[in-house]
Amino acid sequence: MWAWKPLLSHKAPRQDSTAAERSGARRAGAEVAIITAVDSILFEARSRQKQIVALIREMVECESPSCDPAAVNRFVDLLADVAPSFARIKTFPGGRFGRHVVCEFDLPGKKKQGQVLALGHSDTVWPPGTLASMPFRQKDGRLWGPGVLDMKAGIAFFVYAMRILRDLDVPVPNKVVMQINSDEEVGSESSRPLTEKNAKRSRVVLVLEPSAGLEGKLKTARKGVGDYAITVRGKAAHSGLDFTDGASAILELARQIEKIAGFTDLGRGITVNPGVISGGTRVNVVAAEAKAQVDMRILRLKDAEVLDRKFHNLRPVDKRCTIEVKGGLNRPPLERSPAIVQLLRKAQKLAREMGVELGESPSGGGSDGNFTAALGVPTLDGIGAVGEGAHALNESILIDRIADRTALLAKLVAAL
Ligand SMILES: [Zn+2]
Repeated sequence: MWAWKPLLSHKAPRQDSTAAERSGARRAGAEVAIITAVDSILFEARSRQKQIVALIREMVECESPSCDPAAVNRFVDLLADVAPSFARIKTFPGGRFGRHVVCEFDLPGKKKQGQVLALGHSDTVWPPGTLASMPFRQKDGRLWGPGVLDMKAGIAFFVYAMRILRDLDVPVPNKVVMQINSDEEVGSESSRPLTEKNAKRSRVVLVLEPSAGLEGKLKTARKGVGDYAITVRGKAAHSGLDFTDGASAILELARQIEKIAGFTDLGRGITVNPGVISGGTRVNVVAAEAKAQVDMRILRLKDAEVLDRKFHNLRPVDKRCTIEVKGGLNRPPLERSPAIVQLLRKAQKLAREMGVELGESPSGGGSDGNFTAALGVPTLDGIGAVGEGAHALNESILIDRIADRTALLAKLVAAL
C-alpha cells in the first residue's frame, strides 16, 4: 500500500504543475487575445520593439551634426532608405546646412479632413567623431548615444507608428506629413519658411522632440528665445601715458552688463543671460571696443517688445562711448493655448487607455514647435522618446517606453 503513496505523491504534483502550466498558458493566451482585440496598436508596437531599436541604432550611428551638411545628407539618405514604401519623400535644399526632408504617408482611410504635421530634426549638437568616445550602446534598460534622445528615436517611433497604422489597416482621417529639418539645433534659419508653410496647411502639429523628465511629460509651453549682440566702442589710449584720454569700452560694457542682467524677471519667466563677452587688445591699452552676446528667454510674446525697447534704450554711462545693439527674438514662445490643452487631453486619454499617465511640463528650450504654435496651429511638443541627457554625455532613452510612445503616436494620428 505504502508503495502507492510515493507514486501518487510523485504523480500528483506533476499533474498539478502541468495543470497549472496549462491554465497559466491559457491565462497568457487570454491576455494576448485581449491585448490583440482591445489594443492591437500597442501589441504591434511591442512586437516590433527589436526592429525599432535596430532602426534607432542605425540612425545614431549615422552621425549628423548641424555643422556638417554632408553628414546630415547621409542621414537624410538613410531616412529615405528606411522610410516605408508607402511614404513619398521630397527633399529641400538647406542652404549652408543639409537638406530638409518631407515624407507624405499614404495611409488607410478615404476622406481626408486636413493635414497632420509631424515635425522633427535630423541634426544633432554632437561634433563629427563623437561616436568614438560615446558609441551607441544598450545598457541598464536604456539606449545610449549621441542624438538618441534629441531626437533620432522620435523619428524612428513615428516611422514605425505609421507602419503599424498601415499594416493594421487603421483608417486615418487626415493626410499625414513628417518634416525633418537639418538646422534646428542652430536656429532653424533655413528650415523655418518650410516649417511655417507646412504648418499653415495643418490642423495639428506633433513635435517629435524628447519629452520632459523620465516620466515622459509632454511640453505644452516653451520659452521664446532671442539673442542680442552688444558692441561698445570707446577710445583707445596708453594706459600709462594718456590714461584719462581713454574711454574704456570694457568698463562701459561691464556697467551695461549689470543693467542687462537686471532685465531678468524670474517671476514672469524672463531670463537674460550675457553668455559671451570679449574686448580689448592689450593689457596696457584702454580698450576701444568690447562685445557681449546675450541670450534672452521669455514665456509671453508681449514681453519680447518690452525687452527689445529696454535693449535699445541702453545709454552709455561714459558719454564718450557708444553702444550698438543688434538682434532680437528669433523663436517666439510656444504659449499654452486652450487648443494645445485640448490636444493634450486627447493624448492623455489615449495614454490612460494603455495604463500610462501622461503629464505636462513647460520647457526653457525652444523647438520648431515654437514657430508653428505662434501661427496659431495647435502644437503638441515633446511627444518623442522618454529619457534624459539631451546635449549631454548621459544622453539616453528608456527602452521600456519605446512601445507605448510609438503606440501613442499611431493612436493620436488615427484619432485627430
Ligand atoms: Zn531637439
